[in-house]
Amino acid sequence: MPTDPAETGRLQPLLSQLGAGLDDFLKFEHPDALHPGRRWREHLDIALPRTGIGIDAVADELLRHVVPNGSSVPRPGFSAFITTGGTTAAALAATAAGIASPQRYGHTAFNFLEELSLRWLADMFGLVSMQGVYSSGGSVANLLALGAARQSAFERLGRDPAADGMDRSVAVYATTEAHHTIQRSAGVLGLGRRAVRAIACDERGRMRVDALCRAMAEDRRAGVLPMAIVASAGTTNTGAIDPLRSLGEIARENGVWFHVDGAYGLPGRLDDRVAPLYEGLGLADSVIVDPHKWLGAAVGVAVTFVRDRELLRRAFTQEPAAYLEGSMQRPDDEAARIEHSMDDMGVPYYDFGVELSAPSRGVVVWALIREIGVSGMTQRIRRHNDMATHIARVARAHPNLELLQEPTLSICCFRYVSPEVRDLDGLNQRLHRRLTRENRNMPSTTRVNGALALRPCFVGARSEMPHAQALVDDVLRIGAELVRESALP
Ligand SMILES: *Cc1c(COP(=O)(O)O)cnc(C)c1O
Repeated sequence: MPTDPAETGRLQPLLSQLGAGLDDFLKFEHPDALHPGRRWREHLDIALPRTGIGIDAVADELLRHVVPNGSSVPRPGFSAFITTGGTTAAALAATAAGIASPQRYGHTAFNFLEELSLRWLADMFGLVSMQGVYSSGGSVANLLALGAARQSAFERLGRDPAADGMDRSVAVYATTEAHHTIQRSAGVLGLGRRAVRAIACDERGRMRVDALCRAMAEDRRAGVLPMAIVASAGTTNTGAIDPLRSLGEIARENGVWFHVDGAYGLPGRLDDRVAPLYEGLGLADSVIVDPHKWLGAAVGVAVTFVRDRELLRRAFTQEPAAYLEGSMQRPDDEAARIEHSMDDMGVPYYDFGVELSAPSRGVVVWALIREIGVSGMTQRIRRHNDMATHIARVARAHPNLELLQEPTLSICCFRYVSPEVRDLDGLNQRLHRRLTRENRNMPSTTRVNGALALRPCFVGARSEMPHAQALVDDVLRIGAELVRESALP
């Protein structure tokens, strides 16, 4: 009998109870969910417990007070952030990993799936012979890619920036629409946030090649080394895809690293109607994608792809450590034989990024793809792109709606308009607030060429075409209400 008070060994009944509670949650009918702080807080906000209540009571509190008052993110009508509720497959796999392989290291099936799923992703997105490493999100994935770019640029000058730091100023080129994790990465890597040049976009949010070339020439004249061009394959704001081929060619000609941020939009490549926009992806030195966006994992799974992980190792090696080396060392005569999962660390992911301990994430991606295959993923991507196109079509035709940007992927930027209202930004802001309060169809807002836009981004596996239409209906209804209210004396 185990003596630790927390080792009850009763996963089966408790997980099955939790599963039922989660299925209930996903019906989104719990009355308290709309009123944060109304009741659940009283139950949860207690002083440090001196004695425990036991696992059954913990399960009960989870089911009663925590789960029902969770996030709106997994709702089918939630389209604000580019994050989704994990699918059932993702939840199953993550639970399995938490118990059976809490670390990604060792010669285990989980470590194997880490590598296999990375190959599958590269294969699915046509990233020929690229090698990947998982991390916690697009923020870290971009950091690793720019770390590789920095390593490459300085090694060519005969220096090792990871060991010795940098002896000159460099510049990174990204558009005004690029994700701000690029600036943060530049800050963390010691390039400085201001090293990221804000390159102008055309009217559809794509990098202007002439502006890029001008900025690079200016930097060269000033003695600044152009280090990397960062293209977005699906901007967070509008889903715009930069002209990858032109940018990749300019990068090649100038000996500059070419990074493609596909955190959100890389899976768009599966939709043959937009696939041509990804031409030139083959020129990329690094690419990132977030399986926790369009692929249906819960938050915590991103990938950085590079041509050669050795470069990542030189940029991020954590140096040999006694506690890692010793425990896994086999006697020389056995060195070639792996007989136990702890005889070997498996692929040394800890040397390719900034995390040592890390969860097994590959098993989640493996489950997502194994469940529905490339065809199922493709079907989802197309459905979400169709939803954005549907809203665009309705907005073009309706006198009270205005399309602010033609959608490229699954984001559609539009707004409510009325001839009786001058302050359209204010009107749409109030409309958005009321929409969010209703808690059914929840886009975000953004600015498109100066105008405040409603911005649904469809990525959730539970989001279907009727949710796109329901959003439009809600916008028309609330817009009319607000115009009526503002006309009252
Ligand atoms: C979401 C996003 C990121 C940041 O990813 P996180 O997983 O939120 O850290 C970076 N780039 C783009 C284009 C994104 O959409």
